[in-house]
Amino acid sequence: MKPLIPAEVIQARIAELGAELDTLYGDDEVVVVPVLKGSFVFAADLVRAMRCNVTVDFIGASSYGESTKSSGEVRLTLDSSVSLMGKQVLLVEDIVDTGLTLAYIQKFIKSRSPAGLRTVALLDKPARRVAPVELFRVLFRIPDRFVVGYGLDGPGGLYRNLPFVAVL
Ligand code: 5GP
Repeated sequence: MKPLIPAEVIQARIAELGAELDTLYGDDEVVVVPVLKGSFVFAADLVRAMRCNVTVDFIGASSYGESTKSSGEVRLTLDSSVSLMGKQVLLVEDIVDTGLTLAYIQKFIKSRSPAGLRTVALLDKPARRVAPVELFRVLFRIPDRFVVGYGLDGPGGLYRNLPFVAVL
């Protein structure tokens, strides 16, 4: 599979984002909340590019089922295990397409009364957005194509282990 975004380009952008987040959060503790499953690779690299005080807690959401088209129906598959009240929360998402998944998760996290909520996404496909979402940073804007790799899966749950992003 031919890379759409090569591994070294992804790593360079993550290093920049990590440094920016360090400056932003300073001495504050930040709870990094990766949205499983797709963001596990991005989040693992991002937290290692951050030198500020980080804790990690996962949530899980599923919107596609086995299909490559969004069903529009979001299911929470895993809830955070720590209290987010009064905390600085950094939500880490793999890709924002229609925005339905992220809008649902942002609303859910806000209901936990964090002191601050920012969202970073690896990829953004703005062409199909239907739900407005607040994004602090997006690393790459891509056209409306189905992509795999770097945590994102294809049919059968495959390709998450590719070190780059590719069009299926
Ligand atoms: P949305 O709710 O914004 O339409 O979809 C967001 C979720 O759908 C993402 O978190 C991801 O799991 C999945 N998704 C959207 N586009 C793609 C894609 O191009 N490739 C893969 N593998 N998943 C996608």
